[in-house]
Amino acid sequence: ILVAEDLAPSELTRLPPGKVAGIVTAAGGASGHVAILARALGIPALVACGPSALALQPGQTLVLDARAGLANPQPTPSDLAAARAEIDKLAARRRAMQASANAPAITVDGVAIEVAVNIANADDAREGVAHGADAVGLLRTEFLFIDRRDAPTEAEQTAAYQAVLDALDGRHAIIRTLDVGGDKEVPYLQLPPEPNPALGLRGIRTGFAYPDMLDAQLRALLAVKPLSRLRILVPMIADVGELIRLRERIEQLAGEMSLSERPQLGVMVEVPSAALLADQLAKHADFLSIGSNDLTQYTLAMDRCNATLAARIDSMHPGLLRLIAITVEGANQHGKWVGVCGAMASDPQAVPVLIGLGVAELSVSPRLVPEVKSLVRGLSRRHCEEEALRLLALGSPQAVRGRVTELWPGV
Ligand code: PEP
Ligand code: MG
Repeated sequence: ILVAEDLAPSELTRLPPGKVAGIVTAAGGASGHVAILARALGIPALVACGPSALALQPGQTLVLDARAGLANPQPTPSDLAAARAEIDKLAARRRAMQASANAPAITVDGVAIEVAVNIANADDAREGVAHGADAVGLLRTEFLFIDRRDAPTEAEQTAAYQAVLDALDGRHAIIRTLDVGGDKEVPYLQLPPEPNPALGLRGIRTGFAYPDMLDAQLRALLAVKPLSRLRILVPMIADVGELIRLRERIEQLAGEMSLSERPQLGVMVEVPSAALLADQLAKHADFLSIGSNDLTQYTLAMDRCNATLAARIDSMHPGLLRLIAITVEGANQHGKWVGVCGAMASDPQAVPVLIGLGVAELSVSPRLVPEVKSLVRGLSRRHCEEEALRLLALGSPQAVRGRVTELWPGV
């Protein structure tokens, strides 16, 4: 178990595979990028534990239950036996769910929910397929840009994106344009220091500020084959003008490359204005994907990396649920579908709620696909819809979670 004050995403990706059983950090937030990466790597992680984490001694025995949000530094022999039994039980449950992972996730009343994966590279894509993923719902391309001295070339990017499509055996991939800034630093870009990075040059704003870099990425994406299996996703869109500007640029570049086909273009809904204007965005986008990590951060005005606030940054906040409902309603007006690619989609308690709000795709960590699919198969969309409406009237995430526990006790 690795204990640290905090970790950079690049440090996490360099950990020797299979050697780390868990992570405990004093700082960080549950939807910060360290937590996201740890989830993708299948490493139980307890973040934002405060300074007491650093009092742990090297070699000390520690029982870490990341699901329950607990670390026990003084386990008795019976605690240890219980932890080992729980680990075995979880492994057996995973094996059972893996057996049906390749079948589609259809609710008891016949609604198919696409269960896709969030990935960083072609290896993750293969892992997603092995776990039964229907598609890639989010490729965070920034992982291709961090942890190096200069930007990847266009050819390097095309090779990386093509490798992902090739790993998918006919499935489609949603590839997001570069989302740097905020807590995702790329040293060679030398972004100017900002007092509030999360509110500064981030996502597509960085793309428009560095047009050569954006063009190189768009050309690299347009060079993959077949384009019918590629969907481009744009991060941090705040209004429809940005989307139209990007669509026009893609159109120009595709024209210059003499392409006859165009990939679909989707918008991340992660800025509250995008949720409120979803009807306008859906008119010009092929699909919408809710980035619940940032949508939560910006709606609640709570930094997703702030350890003190970590327990309160909860996507099940009724304010968030209402924004998701508005997003789906806006998208439906134009016959477009809405997915969720933030960590909320990987939260079992959120799954019935999202399905009830009309979400059609859940993009989760590769290892969670079997579990999310098996959960969907036990739900009735009609029942979820009726109950989700009532949840919108509650006053806190605790109240929402309490009600969800009553309604779906096994989740
Ligand atoms: C999100 O904000 O929910 C999201 C999926 O994007 P990221 O976590 O990479 O900011
Ligand atoms: Mg985001």
